[in-house]
Amino acid sequence: MIYLDYNATTPVDEKVLETMLPYFSVKFGNAASSTHLLGAQSKDAVENAREIIAKTINCETQEIIFTSGSTEAINLAIKGVYNTYQTKGNHIITVETEHKAVLDTCKYLEKKGAQITYLKVDKNGLIDLQELENAITEKTVLVGVMYANNETGVIQNIEEISKITHKKNTIFFCDATQAIGKIRVDVQKDGIDIMCLSAHKFYGPKGIGALYVRRKNPRVALEALIHGGGHERGWRSGTLNTPAIVGLGKACEIISFENNIEELRNHLENSLIQQFSKSIIINGKNAKRLPNTSNITFPFKAADFIRHTKTKLAIATGSACTSAENLPSHVLTAMHLSKEQAERSVRFSLGKYTTKHQIDEVIEMIKTIVI
Ligand code: PLP
Repeated sequence: MIYLDYNATTPVDEKVLETMLPYFSVKFGNAASSTHLLGAQSKDAVENAREIIAKTINCETQEIIFTSGSTEAINLAIKGVYNTYQTKGNHIITVETEHKAVLDTCKYLEKKGAQITYLKVDKNGLIDLQELENAITEKTVLVGVMYANNETGVIQNIEEISKITHKKNTIFFCDATQAIGKIRVDVQKDGIDIMCLSAHKFYGPKGIGALYVRRKNPRVALEALIHGGGHERGWRSGTLNTPAIVGLGKACEIISFENNIEELRNHLENSLIQQFSKSIIINGKNAKRLPNTSNITFPFKAADFIRHTKTKLAIATGSACTSAENLPSHVLTAMHLSKEQAERSVRFSLGKYTTKHQIDEVIEMIKTIVI
């Protein structure tokens, strides 16, 4: 099986696993049990991981809250800000191409009385900055724009977006789930106020993530979603998952951008362009993209593609995120693809274990589908 679905999830790196293992059975103390050595040992491990994460995204340790992953962090960010800033207003701005964790949370708040603006994107998947600026009103409490799209890899102009939101005195939330580990993310340089990340997207374990919440310029206030015990300074109660947190820290520590992933992705795209000439579309090609992601519209249905390759190749169809409902990808239709084109689209996402030999095999495999 050739695995090209790294945006869905990644295998845990051996080094990460090794670092985690003692915390399941030997060093099993509760990080909140400060009265004995085992507890203190776990607390130290958690705080060490927090330091590594803070260093990775250039923030302070007190600005990191551990969560069960990005979905929870997104819920905490959006609902937490919405509930806290109700005296200011009830308006949230986000984008049509966001992950469902963001869109569904906004839809939930809409039912509770929130007013949500869903910004459109152009055919490259990018928002119009002027449209964003025009959409912000005195009642806008949050602007939520993802760093990089999970389906296309398209990277938004984060620095400009943060400048606009701050000029208009609004908080900027960024879903960086797909960006961390693939490109450099610096919350100071990027001007991000709240940001989520998830370990399983960059060779850490599943079920652990973090929310960064800015403490100054501006200081962001947040209402908790989960109560009971006051862990994580009251923002997220519940016994900390020490092994997973240690794994998240190690996954951050071993992030490396020195690889040939982009070269392999380009090799795949160029070979397919040669093979199909003008009959394929590389979605988001004219925007800045993650180095590992390629979303391609083929001359045949993605379902047929999958039927041919299912046992040999792990990829995602454009509609992966809505597969339960079997709808065409909301990301691709927002990028002006027809429903029919969206149904002919496939996402390849490469990772650090991808080899040139595998990409060549995939190119050959695709040739057999056309014949
Ligand atoms: N946001 C984006 C952009 C994602 O790609 C994902 C994962 O699919 C999520 C959020 C949800 O992350 P998690 O699996 O940690 O809940």
